[in-house]
Amino acid sequence: MGAATFSREGGTLRSTAPRSSPLDRVVFLDRDGTMIHDPGYLGDPAAVQLLPGVVPGLSRFTAAGFGLVVISNQSGVGRGLISIDQLEAVHRRLEEVLLAEGLVLSGAWYCTHRPEAGCDCRKPRPGLLLRAARCLGLSLGDCWMIGDRPSDADAGRSAGCRALCLDAKTPDLLSAADLVLAEPRGADERR
Ligand SMILES: [Mg+2]
Ligand SMILES: [Zn+2]
Repeated sequence: MGAATFSREGGTLRSTAPRSSPLDRVVFLDRDGTMIHDPGYLGDPAAVQLLPGVVPGLSRFTAAGFGLVVISNQSGVGRGLISIDQLEAVHRRLEEVLLAEGLVLSGAWYCTHRPEAGCDCRKPRPGLLLRAARCLGLSLGDCWMIGDRPSDADAGRSAGCRALCLDAKTPDLLSAADLVLAEPRGADERR
């Protein structure tokens, strides 16, 4: 598999991996506090650290035929706290750490705007998911959004996905995978 390529357009940073076959459906994943530890405005690739449950959880999703796509607000760029090069470096490190566990991302979409910019892509707005769906040819009703904040789930639902917010009952991506994979495909019960 070749390296992921980045594009920067209108404050969105996008990374997509080359694929040999079309994706059937994906799980959209918040990054900070869901996949990796969140020190706040992470700009140091060396500080990327996967959270408990991420490797077995994402392995289950992959085995069940889901692609994995990161959907993340990174207003630290717009605020001038980290550079877009740092954001890219952190993303490459995340890909590296996952690949060491046999996990491959299908893509990542980052909103780099400040909250007050009024963009259409900062969660809870659905813009990043809509762009990812258009780019990857996804049917959003078959996809899930998982994050650690209500704004993640809100973005997923606004985009037409099913959504899950990590909580005391579903504290990590392994328990999230258990829950999602137990649901019948296309059912319209949402949480
Ligand atoms: Mg988060
Ligand atoms: Zn944005």
